[in-house]
Amino acid sequence: MSEANYDLHCHSNISDGRLPPAELVARAAGQGVTVLALTDHDDVSGLVLARVAAAEHGIRLVNGVEISVSWGVHTLHIVGLQVDPLHPALVAGLEGIRAGRRERAAKMAEQLEKAGIKNSLEGAYQHADNKNLIGRMHFARFLVAQGIVKDVRTVFKKYLVKGKPGYVGHQWANLADAVAWINASGGQAVLAHPGRYDMGSTKMHELLAEFKALGGVGIEVVTGSHTPEQYPHFANLAAKFGLLSSRGSDFHAPGEGYRDIGRLPALPSSCTPIWHDWADC
Ligand code: AMP
Ligand code: MN
Ligand code: MN
Ligand code: MN
Repeated sequence: MSEANYDLHCHSNISDGRLPPAELVARAAGQGVTVLALTDHDDVSGLVLARVAAAEHGIRLVNGVEISVSWGVHTLHIVGLQVDPLHPALVAGLEGIRAGRRERAAKMAEQLEKAGIKNSLEGAYQHADNKNLIGRMHFARFLVAQGIVKDVRTVFKKYLVKGKPGYVGHQWANLADAVAWINASGGQAVLAHPGRYDMGSTKMHELLAEFKALGGVGIEVVTGSHTPEQYPHFANLAAKFGLLSSRGSDFHAPGEGYRDIGRLPALPSSCTPIWHDWADC
């Protein structure tokens, strides 16, 4: 048997990744991933195709999702692992978030229009393979395709982050609800890429305490969006709060972003992996 390689965070074109679920799974298998969680933003409809592909490639698929949450002024992402994608509370919760995304997208397009960029709503939807899930990345790809900005990273910097013309503040799900949907569906709630949130140490401690009290069980320690210096830092916080540790690339597309799928260092040896008690893996 090949060595276990867990990648528990990635995106297909059901959200803002570029590869269809089957191609994503094929790429993961080719890169040596043995257990893959597909964690599309606020949508679980890629999991059926991913599961078929995983069986073909002889790797294990974990049903996942990445839920958008507002916590005070902060936007957080909560990964759900081992969720039941048919659970009514989860299904309804995610549908509510997707409806909010549609409203936000219309407002974003209005603002971009004022900044001189026309037809960006239609343009963004053309770049969304799943018309039910619209996000900032689809606007970013439209602006790049129009030749307005050279790459998606620059679009975010110039147009799509707080203080820029296309940024629209948005109320996502609340943390308690997101954790409750994941738990109700039999899943495990994991705080995604904690190192990416712009908050000081006191606020991060408050967040971890509240997340744990609400029923959250893990945090991402090794992720494509952490620097190597952040791995031991979040490993220590996981230990301090009695949380399990997760590992995932947050892969979106070849050549876009930080890490390829499956290409991450191991968790620090002090960590208890989120998968420590998973059956048959
Ligand atoms: P949304 O959930 O629609 O607000 O979009 C968030 C997504 O945009 C993230 O999951 C990333 O895929 C992408 N993203 C956010 N910030 C950046 C950035 N600075 N550069 C490139 N992509 C980004
Ligand atoms: Mn994304
Ligand atoms: Mn995220
Ligand atoms: Mn992600």
